Amino acid sequence: MDDLHRSLLNTYTAQPLDRSAHGRKDPEWLAAQLADTRSEYLILNGHSIVTVNRVPLILSYDQFYALNSAMTPLLLGIKKTDGTPVYLVNTNVAEEDLSTLFHAIIDRLDNVKTITPESFERLSLRTITREIDPELASVYSYATLLNHWHITTRFCTRCGSALEIKEGGSVQQCTNEECSHIEYPRINPAVIMRVTKDDKILLSRQENWPENMYSVLAGFVEVGETLEQAVEREVLEEVNIPVENINYHSSQPWPFPNSMMLGYTAEACSFEFELEQDDIEHAMWLTADEMKQKMIEGSLYPSTEFSISHSLINDWFQAQTGITIKAFRSTIAV
Ligand SMILES: [Zn+2]
Repeated sequence: MDDLHRSLLNTYTAQPLDRSAHGRKDPEWLAAQLADTRSEYLILNGHSIVTVNRVPLILSYDQFYALNSAMTPLLLGIKKTDGTPVYLVNTNVAEEDLSTLFHAIIDRLDNVKTITPESFERLSLRTITREIDPELASVYSYATLLNHWHITTRFCTRCGSALEIKEGGSVQQCTNEECSHIEYPRINPAVIMRVTKDDKILLSRQENWPENMYSVLAGFVEVGETLEQAVEREVLEEVNIPVENINYHSSQPWPFPNSMMLGYTAEACSFEFELEQDDIEHAMWLTADEMKQKMIEGSLYPSTEFSISHSLINDWFQAQTGITIKAFRSTIAV
């Protein structure tokens, strides 16, 4: 399997939209998309997703314009299947005000049955990822990342003037004509690495994680280093183990709030470790059989299934045992 296809096995990597990089630069093309009555509008609220009875709220063209609000739709792209424009819209209201905001369109929501003011809820992407299909989860991941950038990037980083949305929202430009600096969406690269030695994997946990949840090590890439150097440095910093044979595994957009996870594998030069107590609460070397035993006892839960961390652990576990973690856990579920 090549790197592309290994990455596509990770969650948030399906991409049903064409971002239309060329079309966006053409105001006439953008206007034609805005006028397309097939358009769909994903409704976000800051870092949350607006849902109705736990179904993500996606408005039609008529519903969106019935809102009669000043909210600016940002173009995510057009559907590869039929060219339907898909927008994100950030509503900036408190949860209790959501039903008021959407009052005008409640009667027209034919995809949800009984609606009460309590039907409108803001849910995190983490929460709904398990409940929606992978393509939609990927679109919401992209929308969440873009929305985070728009929320946190309001002024020019060069001169401090206000920014205006350009190219449907994929860039913002400084309104000071002397400056005209263009701001592009920012993501923070982070390396995440599976460290193994012989037939053992190194798993660790942080204090604020759910009880008994374990993962592989990860950390942000620093200015001026390569990704491989970041892997080497992070493992040394967190558990004080030198590593070698550092190899790329796969990547995953990680919209919590704006990271790009770059997955690596590495071999430890020693089993001896020393914890950096500020970051890591507990770490342990485990064989696949020991992992199985701890999962049976309930003293180990590998990180959430939609994370690249899970993919890194699972690939190793499956190679060792011939079974996925999910399949193994289903045999012990009560
Ligand atoms: Zn400026």
